[in-house]
Amino acid sequence: MQAPSVGGVMLPRGNGETVRLSRGASLTDFAEKINANPASLVAVMMNLGEMVTATQSVSDETLQLLGDEMNYTVQIVSPEEEDRELLESFSIEFGEDEGGEEALMSRPPVVTVMGHVDHGKTRLLDAIRKTNVIAGEAGGITQHIGAYQVATEVNGEDRAITFIDTPGHEAFTAMRARGAKSTDIAILVVAANDGVMPQTIEALNHAKAADVPIVVAVNKIDVEGADPTKVRGQLTEFGLVAEEYGGDTMFVDISAKQGLNIDSLLEAVVLTADASLDLRANPEQDAQGIAIEAHLDKGRGAVATVLVQRGTLRVGDTMVAGDAYGRVRAMLDDKGETVEEAGPSTPVLVLGLTNVPGAGDNFLVVDEDRTARQIAEKRAARERNAAFAKRVRRVSLEDLDKVLKAGEIQQLNLIIKGDASGSVEALESSLLQLDVGEEVDIRVLHRGVGAVTESDIDLAMGSDAIVIGFNVRAAGRAAQMAEREGVDVRYYSVIYQAIEEIEAALKGMLKPEYEEVELGTAEIREVFRSSKLGNIAGVLIRSGEVKRNTKARLLRDGKVIAESLNIEGLRRFKDDVTEIREGFEGGINLGNFNDIKVDDVIATYEMREKPRA
Ligand code: GDP
Repeated sequence: MQAPSVGGVMLPRGNGETVRLSRGASLTDFAEKINANPASLVAVMMNLGEMVTATQSVSDETLQLLGDEMNYTVQIVSPEEEDRELLESFSIEFGEDEGGEEALMSRPPVVTVMGHVDHGKTRLLDAIRKTNVIAGEAGGITQHIGAYQVATEVNGEDRAITFIDTPGHEAFTAMRARGAKSTDIAILVVAANDGVMPQTIEALNHAKAADVPIVVAVNKIDVEGADPTKVRGQLTEFGLVAEEYGGDTMFVDISAKQGLNIDSLLEAVVLTADASLDLRANPEQDAQGIAIEAHLDKGRGAVATVLVQRGTLRVGDTMVAGDAYGRVRAMLDDKGETVEEAGPSTPVLVLGLTNVPGAGDNFLVVDEDRTARQIAEKRAARERNAAFAKRVRRVSLEDLDKVLKAGEIQQLNLIIKGDASGSVEALESSLLQLDVGEEVDIRVLHRGVGAVTESDIDLAMGSDAIVIGFNVRAAGRAAQMAEREGVDVRYYSVIYQAIEEIEAALKGMLKPEYEEVELGTAEIREVFRSSKLGNIAGVLIRSGEVKRNTKARLLRDGKVIAESLNIEGLRRFKDDVTEIREGFEGGINLGNFNDIKVDDVIATYEMREKPRA
């Protein structure tokens, strides 16, 4: 059988052999795997009625479709799988405890606090931190390192609980999206005076999707009008039935502000963990876990808070976290005190990494420095490749709508830089969740902690990305470079603002800014009364020109008497005219507005769209 051709290009044809492709691969990646010309794959897609450029990253379905058409079996490899394979090539297994049952020891539950905005998540985390410093270490000032551990007494036993210090489900979900399971139990905070709100339900759904048991903290019971019973009723509809109503969810009424019932809440967490989870880990093996927060510190270099999930992490260990690696130079606990080792469920601040890992990146201790470096380098290379594979054309938020309408791009590329990996991850996941319909996709080409650099601008130029700086600015010559190359760099310090603006741009609704421009002023010389039209102002135009159908305000003795008036009628002698210029006389009718007097001034203006900076 002859190989089919389109427009003279020979189409590649396989024999059903398997081709493994990374998620988000481009036609060029595919072509490379089968030794074909990328252009021929573009031709195949065109044949199938889809316009795809060679370097654009395409969906799983498109890759499958292409494979079917050319008789290859396509196997899509997720980033997690790829990483697992990478580690396997070093004979490392991530995520499983070594040894059998007897090697496992119980470990504290790790908790994330979620709920609707303003329902008291932050306040609760503060209250818990303040009231339950681990015994014997009281007096130590707790540091914000991204997580902390507290102790509580349950049935006469001292039990520890680890709290992730970033409230909300965004960070939780960002980590989960990267395959990291950070949380064992979710505390769902619901304000008793406000009841179940949209983000309450969202948080609940995220926890359920992750198969994480929920303890409900009914907060603000000190506030007048608080109705904890109503909250219980409302949540029943979402499958959370309180124990006292025969369900299996523990509800605890608290006041984060007054520190009321915090202990009962902690007890409920422990009891829920005991009842529904088997939290055990091997403390004896090389440490593994996840990075939950990281930033660059001027004096100390890369600083990362990691949560040990199994094994024990020790000073001097060689570790790799995401694409960062290094020897643990020192470790600090949540009280800012140096520690030598950290066991399962313990969060510690680690010094000594080469750079900043992302929130949700896994970490593991390896035997040799060389292995750590190789794993980190391979991961970094993979990220870079993925970023460059996704290059498309340059674009700014303002003309996005136009470009989209013209069908020129199907995705908005973003580069996100921020002050801490937690905020970067949270922003990224929220942006990726924006639902703006079929036509456009958001893709984050690169994310990182630190200032916007020249290399970020480089990447943005090459791939028409927009750069977002969250609580960071452009460093060195990056700002000039962006300006010169026309790269759109946007700075934000509030996540919601960034999300709103990007969403608005995606929907083509980025509102133009208007400014008022004065057109002309007219002095009233005489007032004529007309039975049909009401009062007519006999005027002399003092400045500019007055046009019909423009907006006007009325000034008396320099004060504004009326706003938002309309020049409905404009006459010169007996004729209707559209405008009267400075120095001429005429008659103005302000429609229904009749409160005019001699010597009043009618000032007309229009709103003009302001060009954006
Ligand atoms: P978040 O957005 O869920 O983190 O909410 P915050 O912790 O920032 O709390 C929002 C507001 O509610 C703040 O002004 C808190 O002081 C207040 N607040 C939180 N918990 C309580 C409480 O138990 N009682 C009262 N009266 N106010 C509270």
